[in-house]
Amino acid sequence: MWTDVHTHLNMLDIPAELAVEEAQQAGVTQIITIGTEPDDWPLVMGFSKKFAQVKGALGLHPHSAKLYSDEIEKQLKKVLDEKNIIACGEIGLDYHYEYSEREKQKEAFYRQMVLAKEKKLPVEIHTRSAEEDTVAILKQFSGSVRGLLHCFSGTWNLARAALDLGFNISFSGIITFKKAEELREVCQKVPLDRLHLETDAPYLAPVPHRGKQNKPAWVVHTAQVVANLHKVSLEDLSQKTQSNYNDLFNISSTEIII
Ligand SMILES: [Zn+2]
Ligand SMILES: [Zn+2]
Repeated sequence: MWTDVHTHLNMLDIPAELAVEEAQQAGVTQIITIGTEPDDWPLVMGFSKKFAQVKGALGLHPHSAKLYSDEIEKQLKKVLDEKNIIACGEIGLDYHYEYSEREKQKEAFYRQMVLAKEKKLPVEIHTRSAEEDTVAILKQFSGSVRGLLHCFSGTWNLARAALDLGFNISFSGIITFKKAEELREVCQKVPLDRLHLETDAPYLAPVPHRGKQNKPAWVVHTAQVVANLHKVSLEDLSQKTQSNYNDLFNISSTEIII
């Protein structure tokens, strides 16, 4: 059984029903679908209620940080209490695209970390080309907020700092790409009890599907590469990532679907 800890069911060309069904057939029995701004939060909540395999995470993406306001915060506070919403995210910093000003991104990230702390929810963090500022904010919440760095593509320095501060690392299909040698070296150093798998679908389809639209079922290709890097069987990796998921997202064993 596999978990896809970060996907965007509302952005797929295929119907969510089909994506969830195909995932189930491939052994991907738990999926977290992510909200990025108020417009998609209701869709995420809908999916998390409709499908037993799906939970939701809600937050304001760094691309949309310019929208952050007291009003949005109030809305977010409310929706984070909804059933089957198990994390705040995705939140963070993206200085690669810089669609929102850096100061505004930092403010939105910080304030949503405060919210996650209040709500006792883990976070899903998006960070790109912003290692120093990401670590500076994570430091302020070390020990009080848990979470993962999603679709990790940074340096070992960032991974090590995040791990030291108590945050986990999630790998996507990037790890299967030919040129991702450096990232594979990072992955080898991330302890198996701190590691997650995701698709970030519809983006970043893993080899051998690179270039197509990604879907949760394909997390198994990422799993195969990670298992090889860590020299463990698929079964061992499946068990580890499952238990990491349960632990981080406070999933009790009674809720697990077989
Ligand atoms: Zn992201
Ligand atoms: Zn995402």
